Amino acid sequence: MVRSPIVSGTTRRAVCPGSFDPVTNGHLDIIGRTSRLYDEVIVAVLVNQAKAGLFSVDERLDMLREVTAGYPNVRVESFQGLLVDYCKAQGASVVVKGLRAISDFDYELQMAQMNTGLAGVETLFMATNPLYSFLSSSLVKDVAKWGGDVSAHVPDLVVVRLAARLRGPASGEPGA
Ligand code: ADP
Repeated sequence: MVRSPIVSGTTRRAVCPGSFDPVTNGHLDIIGRTSRLYDEVIVAVLVNQAKAGLFSVDERLDMLREVTAGYPNVRVESFQGLLVDYCKAQGASVVVKGLRAISDFDYELQMAQMNTGLAGVETLFMATNPLYSFLSSSLVKDVAKWGGDVSAHVPDLVVVRLAARLRGPASGEPGA
């Protein structure tokens, strides 16, 4: 049974969830476009206890907050547990996800259908800007790890933090 949608006053609020380890220009494109469609956008960083990222959740939140500072209707938070529970707690009825390629589609469709069934939370898929259709955080990390130039793919502050984390004097083994 599909539950009735979450309605929260008149504010149209969307959640853009993800790992954001680290934020890329592809993420920013989706966040920026979503901010023009909704009154409020919550960028929600998933806390995954089972998988340590290259950056801690706090570091990811910091970077996201800096790069989205120009959007007055975007806020950045972390969450644990079920995305639909987080959406309900925030009064958000819509999740917006970027779709890069057909490879994203299978799993995204399953999650979207599960989330609608669980709690009436709808998922809207936004077609990626073709400039970023190949771009993922993992690819950026792989390229940066070997000294490749990722400055066209991530905001400047992420270029600096990646270099410090992966090749700085205090860094250990390059992370996941
Ligand atoms: P990844 O680690 O694959 O970059 P995330 O879990 O951080 O992914 O992604 C969060 C959301 O951002 C997902 O909806 C994902 O589809 C979307 N996304 C990630 N990269 C891009 C991109 N280059 N273009 C459009 N959407 C993207």
